[in-house]
Amino acid sequence: MTGSTSGLAIDSARLSLILNELRLPAMRQFWPDFAQRADKEGWPAARLLAALAEHELAERDRRRIERHMAEARLPPGKTIDGFDFDAVPMISKAQVMALCAGEPWLTSSANLIMFGPPGGGKSHLAAAIGLALVERGWRVLFVRTSDLVQKLQIARRELALEAAINRLDRYHLLILDDLAYVAKDQAETSVLFELISARYERRSVLITANQPFAEWNKVFPDPAMTLAAVDRLVHHATILEMNVESYRRRAALERKRKAGRPPARMTAHELEIHASDNQPAT
Ligand code: ADP
Ligand code: MG
Repeated sequence: MTGSTSGLAIDSARLSLILNELRLPAMRQFWPDFAQRADKEGWPAARLLAALAEHELAERDRRRIERHMAEARLPPGKTIDGFDFDAVPMISKAQVMALCAGEPWLTSSANLIMFGPPGGGKSHLAAAIGLALVERGWRVLFVRTSDLVQKLQIARRELALEAAINRLDRYHLLILDDLAYVAKDQAETSVLFELISARYERRSVLITANQPFAEWNKVFPDPAMTLAAVDRLVHHATILEMNVESYRRRAALERKRKAGRPPARMTAHELEIHASDNQPAT
């Protein structure tokens, strides 16, 4: 009797080591509980094995999504639930929810472009769509366009531009926030154009911009390149026009109205809020 009990203990210790070696941490952690239940309830061996394997698989998915969430660099706290669709009546919530599924636009490498004045919720909506996509298993990277352009320019100087662009292929969706804020001196090299060309019909991009296409000349070295970039971007694209007043400004006015003050005249404070909306920091 003693012999078989200690044999069991040795088996248990070995099993934990083996599962560790096989990199099956969930099975390693949970097999004693599962085995106990199986013994008590008389599960067939196959059922125990299946239950443990399924558990490992679910944990693996969860860890993968956790990694993808960290690598996506999404601005915190911007969710679909936290987005007030009433503030942008021209945007259909159903359409946005469909985009959050990822299929079919990400599998066909289609793009999404959001236009609108500062403060209208473009970055929020872009981040919220990104978050929903990561939760569904897609890989996403959220960047400020000017930061990425800077990084790609460094890569170009080191003759590693192609490799740097190829590394972005791992992301099903690249969110380029604030395209129009790429500085004039950054436009002198065409890294952004090369990025857009490389992703064309291969991987999706989501672009937010305060400026309509006509003003994108400031972003690319010359008009022909602007035209070519726009052409590739819009070939397979959904365009969301978010022509609404700044959400923060509206919210501030709303608070004032609720406080019982007439909304007629704009105070210095409101003007200040409005001015800060024009900063590229959103
Ligand atoms: P944009 O990128 O168009 O300049 P943001 O997405 O940065 O605008 O929005 C400015 C601020 O207002 C953010 O804090 C954002 O979360 C909030 N906001 C904008 N639109 C909405 C909305 N429809 N519902 C909830 N919050 C919003
Ligand atoms: Mg923004």
